[in-house]
Amino acid sequence: MALLAWSTVFPATAKDFTVVIDAGHGGKDPGARGRIIQEKAINLGIALKLGKLIEANHEDVRVVYTRSSDKFVALDDRAEIANRCKADLFISIHTNSVAKGGAVQGTETYTLGLARTDENLAVAMRENAVILLEEDYQQRYEGFDPNSSESYIIFEFIQNRHMEQSISLASDIQRCFSEAKREDRGVRQAGFLVLRKTSMPSVLIEVGFISNRTEERYLASAEGQQRLAKAISDAFDRYKHTFDTRQAASGVGEANQSAMKAKASGKKLPPAGSEEDILMRKQQRLQKQKQ
Ligand SMILES: [Zn+2]
Repeated sequence: MALLAWSTVFPATAKDFTVVIDAGHGGKDPGARGRIIQEKAINLGIALKLGKLIEANHEDVRVVYTRSSDKFVALDDRAEIANRCKADLFISIHTNSVAKGGAVQGTETYTLGLARTDENLAVAMRENAVILLEEDYQQRYEGFDPNSSESYIIFEFIQNRHMEQSISLASDIQRCFSEAKREDRGVRQAGFLVLRKTSMPSVLIEVGFISNRTEERYLASAEGQQRLAKAISDAFDRYKHTFDTRQAASGVGEANQSAMKAKASGKKLPPAGSEEDILMRKQQRLQKQKQ
């Protein structure tokens, strides 16, 4: 209750950036099944650890979870949560599995697009198949059949203005996984329904293979989950830094304009890009949002 009162007194004014962390599956949908753990538990463990790391490192970032417990959430509701809170970034966490090939291991990060290989298509098909557990999936997804490769043609014509930023984050995530000594299977594209409806840069991470016994043990352990979360958090740091630099650069443009105006009116402004200046522009932005 105390927390609730606090957040009412201090609305999210200091939070300039919202990241939605989406732990795949949950509740009646276990996702891929391993020998000692189910995918939904791995995804949630990493999602919560990632959120804690981001909150600890960034005072100005609001972390929103699509689920923070073992419950079922429909795919398009996950995207809806991100859209509703006007998120700046959407990170979906999943665990991979192959029917045959117990030796296959490693990490992959996906952005939305048309799968160029059968392997990538198979991953999207497996992840999208969860909609079959939703009662009204035929209406909700306009007749999309997750198991028919023909359905995936829609992803060929997808217009994604956030593609560049999504790929940039995906590349950083894979680099950080590699630095954390996880096998890097690369940045890939495929038609994930959960990414289709988000209107911000978004990625879907496959943190490893539950079908590989050694990797499953790693994914099930608190230490393994923490290391993977740390790698994603490191990549987030880089992404956020670039985001802030870009914001500041566009702010310098604005500041130059207002400096000219101020010069004309005889007012003095803090130097462009200075802390004072950034603070001032932050306040102006917030005022604009309130109007
Ligand atoms: Zn999954």
